[in-house]
Amino acid sequence: MFGIVGIPIIEVAFAAQAEGIKYIGMRNEQAACYAASAVGYLTGRPGVCLVVSGPGLINALSGMANANMNCWPLLVIGGSSDRNQETLGAFQEFPQVEACRLYSKFSARPSSLEAIPSVIEKAVRSSIYGRPGACYIDIPGDFVNSHVNRTSVRYAECCLAPPVSLADTLAVSQAVSVLMNAQRPLLILGKGAAYSCAEKSIRKLVDQCGLPFLPTPMGKGIVPDNHPNCVAAARSSALLHADVIVLLGARLNWILHFGLPPRFQPDVKIIQVDICAEELGNNVKPAACLLGDVSVVTEQLLEQLGKQSWRYSSSSVWWDDLKEKMKQNEESAMALAVQKSLPMNYYTVFHHIRTLLPKDCIIVSEGANTMDIGRTVLQNYEPRHRLDAGTFGTMGVGLGFAIAAAMVARDRNPEQRVVCVEGDSAFGFSGMEVETICRYNLPVLIIVVNNNGIYSGFDESVWKEMLTQGDPAILVPPLFLRPNSHYEQVMSAFGGKGYFVQTPEELQDALKASLADRALPSLINVMIDPLSDRKKQDFPWLTRSNL
Ligand code: ADP
Repeated sequence: MFGIVGIPIIEVAFAAQAEGIKYIGMRNEQAACYAASAVGYLTGRPGVCLVVSGPGLINALSGMANANMNCWPLLVIGGSSDRNQETLGAFQEFPQVEACRLYSKFSARPSSLEAIPSVIEKAVRSSIYGRPGACYIDIPGDFVNSHVNRTSVRYAECCLAPPVSLADTLAVSQAVSVLMNAQRPLLILGKGAAYSCAEKSIRKLVDQCGLPFLPTPMGKGIVPDNHPNCVAAARSSALLHADVIVLLGARLNWILHFGLPPRFQPDVKIIQVDICAEELGNNVKPAACLLGDVSVVTEQLLEQLGKQSWRYSSSSVWWDDLKEKMKQNEESAMALAVQKSLPMNYYTVFHHIRTLLPKDCIIVSEGANTMDIGRTVLQNYEPRHRLDAGTFGTMGVGLGFAIAAAMVARDRNPEQRVVCVEGDSAFGFSGMEVETICRYNLPVLIIVVNNNGIYSGFDESVWKEMLTQGDPAILVPPLFLRPNSHYEQVMSAFGGKGYFVQTPEELQDALKASLADRALPSLINVMIDPLSDRKKQDFPWLTRSNL
């Protein structure tokens, strides 16, 4: 349970702790809600975000929206004004149940104290059954300190694990026949597949059938990034030329360029696997619709493909083209990575981070270029080990996600590190959560890739010059942030370790020291060239030329 307590739900947090529920007090409800939602993604059970009425709940709406967009389970419990004060202008009064409807699958206020358990059960069940999402429960202040006879409480047992649904066998046969006729097949692995813990069956599909695969940002690690069939380094080319795509737990939304030209073939055949019937056919009419849990549906596909002993040829022109493109792209990224000029560029920074990060660390990432370039360089070797701005493109999620990941890791493997790679702008959204990290002594390493701005910035001399010329509110470009800010001092202010680095050598030393020192959270503030950018791209961002 994550939250910020005050009137009227202080006692709820105390009671939760007394029951053995871990409670993490955060500094902003947004971050608390992001953290609770990440627990849902990482464990398959909803984390809880506990907030006060009115503004507290409104701050949490960002986290609910983000969870719903990502299809992650989440339970938000909001205190609200006493029932008998409503419409009288009570303290922090707000129509909370109604407000949450837009942001959740289920939003309700129990009609009585006795009804609380059954409403909680319904909310938990709704959050994880079908397409996962956020749920809201409203607790009026006058519920909190009133009493009830135990015998009148309608106790509810915890719900069963979500039922697992298989795809229609006819649709499976149809999918298999489409796939076996593919000239240029491609598997796309999305975060729905990661959530469904489909790594074993998908790995088998890749290996047994020799298929190229492309993970989406949070699909990274379902099959390790260093698997020879991973074609992430030829992403644009793979999407553009594939003639059959098996879409495993990923939507054809902006992240996948809607599945449409100019990023895809106009007649690409999509075999779509999803747990949500309404998702099937969005943007592209599928060649086969497999409605069900991606893990078991992949087993169904494997069974049929195994019967036919089908394997995609490793000596195809498609493989040759993909390998050639990957080689070219990897070489051009490496050419940037080894540049000796200072300040460093993104590729140099990520190259050094990549070589030193432990393979099992959970990587949290946000920012514009920091996240996009970081994704292409930093490797994931295990599923559900990458968290980022996600479907909603939300900036400010990083520290909440890192806190959640560290809490989950603490239970599973206390040696595991959480590394949070942030742009300097992204860090600003929830920077005060560094205090939370230090208060709970979480083994989080934050790396701020600092270019003095949003997308790009400028250097200190230009900024000082600007200040002499007039009102900064008129002169300082909206995308620019204060140059050379010492974000590492935020960490040292709360007892963690801060590093300010400007060269590859300093970066390596700081990384080694902070990874070796498990006792202390740390923050490495890495200064880069304010004009550093992505390497040349084949397509502009978010192209949808047929609109
Ligand atoms: P990405 O961002 O990785 O492209 P999306 O969030 O767009 O992925 O898509 C995830 C999809 O996975 C959603 O359409 C969701 O309904 C689906 N999904 C979630 N859980 C499961 C599951 N257990 N089995 C199949 N599909 C799932």
